[in-house]
Amino acid sequence: MADVSQSGNRVELKGFFPGELEGFVTSLGLEPYRARQIAAWIYNRGSIDFAEMTDLAKGVRTKLARRASILSLKVAARSGADDGETVKYLFELPDGRRVESVLMRDGRRRTLCVSSQVGCPLDCTFCATGRMGLLRNLSAGEILDQLIYVRRELRARGDDLTNVVMMGMGEPLLNYGNVVRAIRLMNLDYGLAIGIRRITLSTVGYVPGILRLAREGLKVGLAVSLNAADDALRSRIMSINRRWPIHELLEAVRAYRQRIDRRVTFEYVLLHGLNDSMEDARRLAALVRGIPCKVNVIPWNPVEDVAFVRPPREAVDRFVDVLRNAHLTTTVRYSRGVDIAAGCGQLYIRPDAAATASVV
Ligand code: SAH
Repeated sequence: MADVSQSGNRVELKGFFPGELEGFVTSLGLEPYRARQIAAWIYNRGSIDFAEMTDLAKGVRTKLARRASILSLKVAARSGADDGETVKYLFELPDGRRVESVLMRDGRRRTLCVSSQVGCPLDCTFCATGRMGLLRNLSAGEILDQLIYVRRELRARGDDLTNVVMMGMGEPLLNYGNVVRAIRLMNLDYGLAIGIRRITLSTVGYVPGILRLAREGLKVGLAVSLNAADDALRSRIMSINRRWPIHELLEAVRAYRQRIDRRVTFEYVLLHGLNDSMEDARRLAALVRGIPCKVNVIPWNPVEDVAFVRPPREAVDRFVDVLRNAHLTTTVRYSRGVDIAAGCGQLYIRPDAAATASVV
């Protein structure tokens, strides 16, 4: 069995595949297939209490409760945006650190934007999360539990979660193992059973991670935060570009696209006066020509003490028109929940609050 994590003398089960739990399950005197039943309770039904697992004998449930635990994040705060469609959750992890997730409703779609790290090791100048630095990676269980929690809440109201975007705090490809494990568990039918086409991972452009993901054969949607169409500017606002410049990034994107056969999304944060001219749009269109893709334009969301300017509506429209005239599928993401700092790039937790231990 893989290194099932122990808390106290209990084995933490959330984050493991049934195959990995078989050893533990048989050590309790259970048949190996029980591992899958337990996984379905944990992931699919969101159970956090062994007593609920009614297809297991009562004695077995008691034994499990003594020997194992099921991680469950606490909600430290929840805020709803003025639009009534966006909810930001502040989750508290077992060590007291905190991350945010954002639920967005759009028609019948219910999308949860989940975090993969506490903070972020990158330092993109326009993003709030980067200013926290990396505090730690989330475990697969901690990534999944954001979804399990919100889905349980939605289901209690006769609603359900439909889509997942890994666009919250952190760079998912720099927490590769846990993120891929979490995605598999989201997708599997005894897991959260969310179709792979409804799962998208967004990356800053970490090339080795993109290439590795291409080989994974997961068919997860890829979004790439391009944000500039020339290396000079991209290196200035995203230091990752100094190591993996645009042409290397696009080569990796092409390789991914070919392996996975899904359109890639390019995200492009619009910073007024820096990257939002018509010339910039033309350069962007030329750059991605030939790659089956869509472009997601995100007018910059304000971040405290950061001196960029959100472009006026006309600048956004002009930029988008150039892309559309170049036959690029283009959407504008006027981020949801900007009033509650739940928009793209606004997720941030003050270091003292992030490190505050739970008082429970
Ligand atoms: N680290 C990953 C996942 C985070 S996704 C990545 O970089 O893709 C967050 C998205 O929001 C990225 O596309 C990022 O470029 C964008 N973003 C960051 N700060 C922003 C801001 N202040 N306003 C609008 N978009 C922002």
